[in-house]
Amino acid sequence: MLTDLHIAVFGGDARQLEVIRKLTELNAILTLIGYDQLDHGFTGASKMDIDEVDFSKLDSIILPVSGTGLQGEIDTIFSNRKNVLTEEMLKNTRSHCQVFSGISNSYLDTITANSNRKLTKLFERDDVAIYNSIPTVEGTIMMVIQHTDITIHQSNTVVLGFGRVGMSVARTFQALGAHVKVGARKSEHMARISEMGMIPFHLDDLKNEVYETDVCINTIPTQIVNADVISKFPSHTLIVDLASKPGGTDFRYAEKRGIKALLAPGLPGIVAPKTAGKIVANVLSQLLINEFYKRKG
Ligand code: NAP
Repeated sequence: MLTDLHIAVFGGDARQLEVIRKLTELNAILTLIGYDQLDHGFTGASKMDIDEVDFSKLDSIILPVSGTGLQGEIDTIFSNRKNVLTEEMLKNTRSHCQVFSGISNSYLDTITANSNRKLTKLFERDDVAIYNSIPTVEGTIMMVIQHTDITIHQSNTVVLGFGRVGMSVARTFQALGAHVKVGARKSEHMARISEMGMIPFHLDDLKNEVYETDVCINTIPTQIVNADVISKFPSHTLIVDLASKPGGTDFRYAEKRGIKALLAPGLPGIVAPKTAGKIVANVLSQLLINEFYKRKG
């Protein structure tokens, strides 16, 4: 339980509601900022404007998955009011106050460092990234079904990258009966891809490996599906780029060649916002509980 723990939750999108629900269950004292248009009420939680918050009472601050903008502004779909998190606010919090966010940027890194408050970037954690790969794969399957006229079964599918998302994508497409080739660069990844019954190839050979591709799914956040590679794809190839913006595909060249290439960011929040929220809520609440009991001794 998180009884007597003061937590400020900034909103956010639908995922943040799962966080609020979980922390309410755990009996934390919640201050909700950026929720004035949300009709739903939560027991033990009070909606406030940012200038009404007593930061000196806060044990934790929970930002939405997107963190803050480069001027500290916090996006919320539940309010039209502008909320900006400043260094002064953080300096006012209790000295052990921690800040949790999905991702960060130079602004958030700087204000947390200058105020000597610990910042946890939840999306950098393996557990969150691996759980999140589940709705990401389901969203990818949905996109491939929507944008091709063939089955995934028996399709020639190339997956680029064998990290937390790439491994889940490759394994699931293989389970659906696709012929899966995976491009990676580490010898241990080659070995694992092979052990899983798929065909590994080195990314240095990418352009020689794609000439029979029906579907190419990229998870590498660097320009890897370049003009040289795209020129080798058959004209019917579908590229689904999952890597964070701007993706790893030369979209302009793909369009010029008439190859369908789709950048598909934020699939968990689109196809399964409730599950995506629960993933964040479960990991976050466990971290808060661990910290709470550590401090209590
Ligand atoms: P990850 O575990 O770090 O895996 C990244 C993969 O890319 C690894 O195989 C890595 O290879 C490879 N890689 C990175 N830089 C490379 C380079 N310069 N050249 C060749 N290979 C390179 O990351 P992840 O969790 O799988 O996430 C992958 C991407 O998907 C990220 O951009 C993430 O933000 C995004 N994502 C998107 C969605 C969505 O809904 N679209 C959902 C979740 C995540 P090594 O291991 O050899 O370094």
